[in-house]
Amino acid sequence: MTSGDRLGRLPGTAAALALALLLPFLASCSGAQEQPASRQLVPTSQQVPRASAINGKRVVAISLDGLNPRAITRLGRSRLPHLYRMIREGAYTLNARAQVEQTVTLPNHTSMVTGRRIRAAADGHGVTWNTHRPGTTVHGAAGHDVSSVFRTVHRGGGRTALFSTKQKFTLFGRSWSQAVHRTVIRDADDVALTRLFRRDIVATKRSFAFLHLGLADKTGHARGWMTRPYLDAVVRLDRLVGQVLSTVRSTPRLARSTVVVLTADHGGVPGTNGHGAATSFENYRVPFIVWGAGVDHGDLYDLNPTLRNPGRGRPGVSGAQPVRNGDLANLATKVLGLGPVAGSLWNRSQHLTWHR
Ligand SMILES: [Zn+2]
Repeated sequence: MTSGDRLGRLPGTAAALALALLLPFLASCSGAQEQPASRQLVPTSQQVPRASAINGKRVVAISLDGLNPRAITRLGRSRLPHLYRMIREGAYTLNARAQVEQTVTLPNHTSMVTGRRIRAAADGHGVTWNTHRPGTTVHGAAGHDVSSVFRTVHRGGGRTALFSTKQKFTLFGRSWSQAVHRTVIRDADDVALTRLFRRDIVATKRSFAFLHLGLADKTGHARGWMTRPYLDAVVRLDRLVGQVLSTVRSTPRLARSTVVVLTADHGGVPGTNGHGAATSFENYRVPFIVWGAGVDHGDLYDLNPTLRNPGRGRPGVSGAQPVRNGDLANLATKVLGLGPVAGSLWNRSQHLTWHR
């Protein structure tokens, strides 16, 4: 339970008083990650979302770590019925892009939740490492305060959660300690984590819930990308995705309100155990699928004529843009009726649409 949970149950005046008394203490013990607005180093115009209150919609974000879209087309609809359901009913592309600078897990996920590129000197989030480093924050990496979809939703009055199969994702809870209302880590246990995630989104009103599943990446590193064991892992992940979709569909309030967005941090080179080369098509191509309440069916590049399908290319940050995994943060803020994440780059104008 976070301090926010406890305060949320107190009557207004008592809560305000308790907050006033607790704030200095919280600031000193949380490593000052959540700085007062006046001390933020970002321009004033970027500090406050345009809309201040959240709507009744919900976003479930699913990242399938190391999912090379080749696996989706290779396995097909019969082996991946749930991913193909999302494709058949939703707005999608199998030709989205990871981050330009790096195709590894933690930097790309930090882009998904901040909407920033990686390189700190270019206003990116600065998270360039890919290991569990206790004590680090995104703010420390960037050299200044960095906002996120978690903070934007929290300030809009919504609740958030982060579920991951990798310890290094505790970075987000440390960085936005007041705004990530629940963090659950189940090391390399995708099945148990998905079960806990489904329970959570039914029991708690999460405006934004993030589920990271690492099985494909883990299998790719151990046995090689696009090998039989890797493809089997993708089939198992499809079942877990199916369980989440089933939870959403069978719970009327979730079915009415939930948009599911599924993407990946990076792919992986077939027959090898890695995905580190940021210039490889096999590494930088990722899927991006939007499915659920109010989402039309179609190819995202058809639905978004201002975006450009990059073919096999690797577009930089200027010029016509492809769909990117970093679009996730501001897709979520748009679904929830909030302005963009402060300081974000990707999808900052919330242009990405899932409507015809
Ligand atoms: Zn990996």
